[in-house]
Amino acid sequence: MADRKPLMAGNWKMHKTVDEAVDAARNLADRVSGASGVEIMIAPPFTALAPMADALQNTRIGLGGQNLFWEDEGAYTGEVSGPMLKSAGCRYVIIGHSERRQYFGETDETVNKRLKSAIRHGLIPVLCVGETESEREAEKTFSVLDKQVGDGLKGFVADELKTLVLAYEPVWAIGTGKTATADQAQEAHKYLRALIEKKFGKDLAESLRILYGGSVKPGNAAELMGMPDLDGALVGGASLEAASFSEIVLYDQNP
Ligand code: PEP
Repeated sequence: MADRKPLMAGNWKMHKTVDEAVDAARNLADRVSGASGVEIMIAPPFTALAPMADALQNTRIGLGGQNLFWEDEGAYTGEVSGPMLKSAGCRYVIIGHSERRQYFGETDETVNKRLKSAIRHGLIPVLCVGETESEREAEKTFSVLDKQVGDGLKGFVADELKTLVLAYEPVWAIGTGKTATADQAQEAHKYLRALIEKKFGKDLAESLRILYGGSVKPGNAAELMGMPDLDGALVGGASLEAASFSEIVLYDQNP
């Protein structure tokens, strides 16, 4: 099996002022200073990116944007571009989070444009996919993943996707406290890896990191991470407190 370094990612959504974000980041950096086996990312609100980049210099924590617009600059009030994220200190960017799809009209087509921009600017994209509760109940999980991956990655060749990270985030498990079982998550991750292999070949499929997201907590992180196709976690609620997120990051060191 390919050597995939786990990525433990925190999505702070619309939480924390600049001071709160910097304090939490410093606290987290202290707690995870020994976590050499994993990569760590925090995606704070845009307003906190640059001050957090200063606070996190020489720590193990990388920064991510929660979204980006596909044009580099222009008359697009309220949007933030790839070069802006880079200049604010980002290494990663989350794309196609279900809240963006649900509340802000994002589609697989706009996800595809954002992804192209992220890759053009050397940002590591964390592309979120996942089914809603009614889609799962109607046994449409795999066809939803087929469409999100097929349309989201349209026009790319394998070489361009070497840094891509996928995040399987069943919408019914986000912020609900209902985690997918480790078996449900593994089934979806295995499916996604096979899909990538079919479209882009074995090398990319084996090196691709697939994160699980949906109510990951200190108490379930180790079981989820024990699954062969889980290569990390995308964590919302439990990433807001340094104490709980550091326990997730250090999942393999807990008793
Ligand atoms: C998320 O925002 O991507 C997420 C998985 O949230 P939570 O961990 O709160 O379910």
